[in-house]
Amino acid sequence: MLNQEEIEKIKVLLSVKKKIVITTHYNPDGDAMGSSLGLYHYLKSKKHNVCVITPNSWPSFLDWMPGVSSCLAGDKHLKKAAKLLEEADIVFSLDYNSLKRTNDLAEFIQASKGVKMMIDHHIQPDNYADFTYSDIKASSTCEMIYEFIQSLEENFNISQECAECLYTGIMTDTGSFKYSATTSKTHLVAAELINKGARNTYIHHKLFDTNTYERMRLLGFCLSEKLTVLNDYHTAFIALTSQELESFNYKKGDTEGIVNYALSIGEINFSAIFIERDDEIKISFRSKGNFDVNSFARNHFEGGGHQNAAGGKGLDTMDETIMKFIQLLPQYKQLLAIHE
Ligand code: 5GP
Ligand code: MN
Repeated sequence: MLNQEEIEKIKVLLSVKKKIVITTHYNPDGDAMGSSLGLYHYLKSKKHNVCVITPNSWPSFLDWMPGVSSCLAGDKHLKKAAKLLEEADIVFSLDYNSLKRTNDLAEFIQASKGVKMMIDHHIQPDNYADFTYSDIKASSTCEMIYEFIQSLEENFNISQECAECLYTGIMTDTGSFKYSATTSKTHLVAAELINKGARNTYIHHKLFDTNTYERMRLLGFCLSEKLTVLNDYHTAFIALTSQELESFNYKKGDTEGIVNYALSIGEINFSAIFIERDDEIKISFRSKGNFDVNSFARNHFEGGGHQNAAGGKGLDTMDETIMKFIQLLPQYKQLLAIHE
């Protein structure tokens, strides 16, 4: 948590109306959007002038979130985003810990004279912010935003909109309360959010029961035609070319979660999905137990994340990226075999 002195400084900063920009990482997910919009609703209720800027657009399964239509996608509105960042008094970095993760927004965030505040739960934060609230044990940035707001308020209260946004990120980042970072505190925060009006069944439905027919067919194709299992390394992976994605009328978000199906096989401790997109190969890694995909992604694929969920990219062709991946496995053979 931030220390008491920092909290007092932030209280003073927020005691008069401010221009505030909240930023997320590239390809924002449920936690990035949930934490940003949750904080947005809270700061709006305190009469600040607030805008959420995402480096690029969010998946359409998050379009229902309260306040999402006021968010600005930087890749489509870069000039406006740059101006807002230049004029901001405060710039929040939520759900990311390195400016690299904001792609084209990075130079404008860096150059902004606004006070920078990072709130994030990824491993190894960079040291660029004036206030860094980093908790690598937290289930989600949304859980941290809940605590952040709590620390600022004597009479803690949040709106239903804020509660629903925060609940969303907790639900998505914990895999519906099943990943190892889920604690009793996570459940207590979730319970409090329900008390504040978060409709848990409704949110679950919006997130997980709104698939398109094409997305289900893409999932079927991945599992029946594209899944490679490397038994010797307890590893499974899926690779999708842009042509394959197009043939299933791919929309942003359609590949979300598919990597978890590969990991759900009994003997598999490490899974990956390679997706050909925008001149690079976007990679997601997942693991069970002690195999650290954050280090793996950092060391070999310019990425990072958490111990059991991380991402990265390949800058070569799909075939070369997959070859590199397969050739790395022997050095991890022993680690990959263990899962208690
Ligand atoms: P996903 O595979 O769902 O895109 O991401 C899994 C986790 O790794 C998320 O917490 C995400 O923020 C993080 N992550 C994804 N891609 C990258 C990346 O390129 N660099 C870093 N540092 N983290 C990433
Ligand atoms: Mn997160």
